[in-house]
Amino acid sequence: MEQPIETIVVDGMALANQLRDEMKSEIEALATWGHRAPHLVVVLVGDDPASRSYIKGKQRACTRIGADSSEYLLPYSTNQKELLDLLERLNDDDAIDGILVQLPLPKHISAETIAEAIDPAKDADALHPLNFGRLLLGNAQLISCTPLGVMAVLEHHGIEIAGQQAVVIGRSNIVGKPVSILLQQQNATVTMCHSRTKDLAGVCRSADILVAAAGNPKMVKGDWIQPGAAVMDVGVSEVDGKLIGDVDFEAAQGIARLITPSRRGIGPMTITMLLRNTLNAYLARKGIEPAS
Ligand code: NAD
Repeated sequence: MEQPIETIVVDGMALANQLRDEMKSEIEALATWGHRAPHLVVVLVGDDPASRSYIKGKQRACTRIGADSSEYLLPYSTNQKELLDLLERLNDDDAIDGILVQLPLPKHISAETIAEAIDPAKDADALHPLNFGRLLLGNAQLISCTPLGVMAVLEHHGIEIAGQQAVVIGRSNIVGKPVSILLQQQNATVTMCHSRTKDLAGVCRSADILVAAAGNPKMVKGDWIQPGAAVMDVGVSEVDGKLIGDVDFEAAQGIARLITPSRRGIGPMTITMLLRNTLNAYLARKGIEPAS
């Protein structure tokens, strides 16, 4: 008889705090060498309540590690030229190390144009085509935060990646595509799925590592999960005031080897990787050795 599987529920907050403590020590060490703290700027256009709450979380995380942060809360009516002008000023400001423009942007602003306008050396969520291209080539300095968070969780839990079957649901530039590339670079055999994939359930059943990033609540049923699979549930949807993942969390218990919950899962890891990118961007621009 098969042994029942005890599913590990990933504590993304605990891992995030551990990594944030390490960054705090790095920033304290930088100060003893006379270096200033890294500075992250977050820009929000419009007043989406979820985005405002993310921004608060980012600010709190910066304060916790001793990094500086500032925010630009621009009205929905801001036009593309005004946003581009702001980005030019931020790019030119030597005291700013990381720039994040919160997505989604209003429809009258092109996300592609904005991504291309951020200095690639300060591109905290790595959406500039240069950073994306470098990721494809395997020599990226800055990589999108959520995929980095997923990879850090897998590494922390000792999940074998090389030679494993990985299935990624979703092919966005911010999650699905970069996480697929990172998994493939660590020698997984990766299948990318999307809204036109045939027999999604069957494809998911082949996964040793399943990354769900579709934004479709509870779409992954228990019987879509291979017993013993590592399930990274990136999707977050608000349903009746509750945050729900793409995976049926209850149904995955006893089947998955480990799973990230929709709260305290990948979310805090994403913010942590934003801080890591800002610190790395600062060190690289200033030519400071990470351990000095
Ligand atoms: P997106 O809308 O840009 O992309 C969604 C992708 O999923 C698309 O490629 C689409 O083809 C695919 N998809 C949608 N419905 C599908 C279906 N029924 N079957 C198969 N594929 C389907 O979204 P995104 O920005 O990549 O975000 C995805 C989810 O992850 C959202 O819920 C978002 O809120 C969440 N997210 C969470 C974090 C975090 O830190 N926890 C960070 C980023 C995104």
